[in-house]
Order: sequence, then structure tokens, then C-alpha cells
Amino acid sequence: MSKTYVQSAIQIAAQLKNRQLTVKAVVSQVLDRIRIGEPRIKAYLDIFNDEALAAADQVDRLYDKGDPLPPLAGIPIAIKDNICMKGKKTTCASKILENFVSPYDATVIKKLAAHHLIPVGKTNMDEFAMGSSTENSAFFPTRNPWDESCVPGGSSGGSAAAVAAGEAILSIGSDTGGSIRQPASFCGLVGMKPTYGRVSRFGLVAFASSLDQIGPITRTVEDSAHLLNAICGYDSLDATSSDQAIPDFAASLNNPIQGRKLGVPRHLFDLIENAAIKESLVNALDVLKSDGVTWEFVDINAFDYAVATYYIVAPAEASANLSRFDGVRYGHRAQGVENLAQMYKQTRGQGFGPEVKRRIILGTYALSSGYYEAYYLKAQKARTLVKEEFNRLFAKYDAIVTPTTPTLPFKFGEHANNPLAMYLSDISTIPINLAGLPAISVPCGFSEGLPMGLQLIGKPYDESTLLNIAHQYQSQTNHHLTFPSQLEALYGV
Ligand code: GLN
Repeated sequence: MSKTYVQSAIQIAAQLKNRQLTVKAVVSQVLDRIRIGEPRIKAYLDIFNDEALAAADQVDRLYDKGDPLPPLAGIPIAIKDNICMKGKKTTCASKILENFVSPYDATVIKKLAAHHLIPVGKTNMDEFAMGSSTENSAFFPTRNPWDESCVPGGSSGGSAAAVAAGEAILSIGSDTGGSIRQPASFCGLVGMKPTYGRVSRFGLVAFASSLDQIGPITRTVEDSAHLLNAICGYDSLDATSSDQAIPDFAASLNNPIQGRKLGVPRHLFDLIENAAIKESLVNALDVLKSDGVTWEFVDINAFDYAVATYYIVAPAEASANLSRFDGVRYGHRAQGVENLAQMYKQTRGQGFGPEVKRRIILGTYALSSGYYEAYYLKAQKARTLVKEEFNRLFAKYDAIVTPTTPTLPFKFGEHANNPLAMYLSDISTIPINLAGLPAISVPCGFSEGLPMGLQLIGKPYDESTLLNIAHQYQSQTNHHLTFPSQLEALYGV
């Protein structure tokens, strides 16, 4: 296998620095793979061919001058299409925003530009980030580069598929209940959901504001640390942004992890039916054990009731957030209507897909007077219990470890008539958003040719420990060093 397909951003950047490679060559190669791979993978909704090449020239000039540049300067990156980029369409993979052009940049986009990363396109997703398979995109589904008959996960399925297919070196996703970690796991990549407040949400189209968080999808943990450094930090434009000190996440990757204590949720482990997934977790724990880490099973209730809690809280917030799409202020407006009420109804009726409608109806119901206390208030109380339980666990453990997903990547249509089965695929990831914690998914093996992921959950603002443990694990494994063979054949070596 040609090593170029599995090079990390940091490895490529080293060659940009010593001028063995030009940014133009790297960007051109990625654009070539997009041209060849996209008819099959369909990771992108928009591709910035000319702008990316022009930006590459500029960064090459900076490298030529020899000035010190940020660690990821010149690296091509894909952006989920719910993040605003000035002058570019931001569709959220929804018909209602099909022609919406953003008048401003999200804070994350400004930060990427300040670090001289090069956006190559906007990626496909489940409509408004609601889903786990990218099948809810209003435009087309994205295919899993490891097996094109399987979903890439979601909702950031396009961002994950782009990196897995070599159609980007890095990407940005958003995670409300698992949408970075689950597609990263399904595509054999590293996905990091930072602590709530760590990364500014300014310019991220809101799904459930108290749960949403932007984060990196990368091939290696080292890349994840560098990309997180580039995008995080306090932002006065986001009222929930945190001013906690920011460590250099890459600096502690090689710290010894001897003496770290991990907890593994017993009931969740027992619930998982797939033997290969269980085995991969046990194998990963053995690798960590050889580094002096200890682990034990622990009873955690949060995994039992978090999904139910989430499906009250998230739709409730979504129903409020999505009320702004009314045909007046943004995007699509129904034609041929006779009055204002009809215009609202038809605009939303035509513009939103079935899953988004389901969530709006659920959320509106949960918030309606008479039901508010029975559902929303109760869910908020359950959410507090989830938070408190994790707080207690972190007095004893440095991280909680789970399989990222209970199943392997599934086939298209497999959950089409069963939304509850789809919802349950996020059982490991959802509690983390309810508690606002950081978590990372790191590749931990393959079964039936499909990738599996290991999730590490950490204390608030302690991304460093997660990255440190995940990096130590990744340095002793080679799951991230393989590339889908059918794509390699397609691209040529
Ligand atoms: N799959 C979950 C949902 O549909 C989580 C989505 C997300 O994290 N954006 O709500």
C-alpha cells in the first residue's frame, strides 16, 4: 500500500516545512482524489477548487519566506455544511436552506484561516445534524469508504467519509449526541467532541444549543490535538464559550500513562451483542494495561436513561431553534400562497424532511403547557443526574471507556422504518453531551472489513488526558495505517 494515503497532517506539514512538498501539490492531490472518488463516495455538497488552489499558492509563499508558521499551515480541510463560511452556501443538507449563502464566517472558520488551513469544501450531513447515517440529507446519502453498501455514520458522515477516502486530510464536524465520534468510528478515524464551551458555536447552525459542540475528525490523535488547539478558545460572540485556560494539547501526548485508572460501564458492555466489538474493547484495554493503566468494570446508570432524556431535551431545543426558518428570514419560501399562515406552513412543510419534522413535533409537544413538567422538566432533572453521576465517577477514574458504537456500520435502509433502532445506535455517545464532557473515539480494529472505535470519556476541560491516553494507544496499533483498497486501486499508487 502506498503510504501517501495514510499520512497524517503533521507528517505532511513536516514535508511542507522542509519544502520537500508544496502546498499546491498537496491540495491538488486532494482535489484529484475528490474528482475521482466523489462520484462514488459523495462526501461533499460543495467543492472549492479554485479558491483552494489560490490559497495554496499563498501559503507556499509563506513557507518559501521561511517564517515560522502554525503546525497545520497548508493542510486541506473539509467543513461540515452546518458551519457558516462567508459567501458560501450553508445548507445543513436541508431543502429549506438549499440556496442560503452565509453573510459571515463562523469563529471556527476564522480560526482555521488564521492558522492557514485550506478549506476544500462543505460536507454532506444528516439534515440539521439530525441522524446517525447521513441518510437524512435532503440531497443524497454519503457512502462509507470501507464498504460502499454501508452508511458512513452521521450526522457528520460527509466529514468522516472525506478524510477516510483521502478526499481531505482533516475535517470539522459537530456533535450533539455523537455526530463526530460515531462517524469517525464507522470510518476508521479519530473523532473528538470537546468539552461544552471549549470551541465557539458562533456560526454553527444550532440544532440543540445546550448539547452542540464543534470538533475535529482526523486520521491520528496527534492531528486531533493540533486541530483542537487551532479551533478552541474563548469567544465573546458565543455566550456559552468558556474562558478556561487552554493547554497545549499536543505537548502532553507523550506523557507516561502509567497509573491511570479507567472505568468500563458493565451494563453497557453486557448489552452489546456484537462479539467482535466486545473483543476489540478488551484487546484495547490489554494494550493500555501493558502501559501500566488499570481498569475495572463499574456500574453506571447514565447509559440506561440518557437516550430517553436526550430525545426530550434535543427535540425541545430543536423545535425552538428551527422556528427561525419561516420563509421570511432565511432560505426557501413557498410560492403561490394566499396568506401569511399558509406561507409559514407551506414553507416549512416543503422545506423540512421527515426526521426534522418528527423532531419539531416531538419537541413542541414536550414543551407544550400541560406536558412541560411531565416531559421537559423531568428530562432536565434526569440530565442533572447524568452530570452528577459522571462527576462522582471522575473522583475515582481518569477516564471512562466504552465501544463508540454498539454495532458495526450498518447497511443503507437498515433502520429506515425504525427510528428507535437508529436512536439507540448513539447509546454510548449521548450521555457525554448531556453532561457536557469531552470524549474521543479512536480506531480499535476491524471486523468483517469494517472499522470499530473505542471511546474515552474525560473530565470537563481535561481533553489533554484523553488525547494522551488515546495517542499512547494509537502509537501501539496500526488500525489507522490502512486505507480502503478499492479506493487505492481507483486513485492509483
Ligand atoms: N444521532 C443523534 C441525533 O440524531 C446525534 C446527532 C448529532 O450529534 N448531531 O440526534
